[in-house]
Amino acid sequence: MDAVEVRRSPRARRWRLEVPWGEPARLTVPPSMNRADIERVLAEKRPWIVEQRQRQTPRLGLELLAVSESEARLGARELVSALAEEEAELLEVRYRRIRIGGQRSLWGSCSARGTLSFNWRLVLAPLDVLDYVVVHELCHLRVANHSQKFWGLVERRRPHWRGQRAWLREHGPELLAFRPSE
Ligand SMILES: [Zn+2]
Repeated sequence: MDAVEVRRSPRARRWRLEVPWGEPARLTVPPSMNRADIERVLAEKRPWIVEQRQRQTPRLGLELLAVSESEARLGARELVSALAEEEAELLEVRYRRIRIGGQRSLWGSCSARGTLSFNWRLVLAPLDVLDYVVVHELCHLRVANHSQKFWGLVERRRPHWRGQRAWLREHGPELLAFRPSE
């Protein structure tokens, strides 16, 4: 059974419960919330926590990967750079640089100044998923939002993007929780 970490936060207006992959469940409460109310929330939400945990069954086999973060980052940089270079030409866009990061919640982003950032954990995903994220961010250099126009552009470049996005939604949390053994 999960132990739940209780944190008091001066900024919390109401309680918030999270069950992150690979980390203890966490209840954040406002400073004024009393012990009895906290216990009541924990008791009420216990089945929900169990349900969340049951969905978090590892399916990607990541625990078997003997890969260090520096190796994975290097691999990610190489793959992403090669794909971005090729695709930028086809899309007729220019980016300034590529940054490989380790965000715990984000796959890719594109700054107004043309810096493309990607999560190194993408290198552990199927190649077509990594490819989709690269193309997605490059398309933002043409259309900065997620309008129909944007998705139309993505679809022209990668007709099967929905499957790749669905893969990320389903397996992304497991991938984001992956920490190399080193
Ligand atoms: Zn986007």
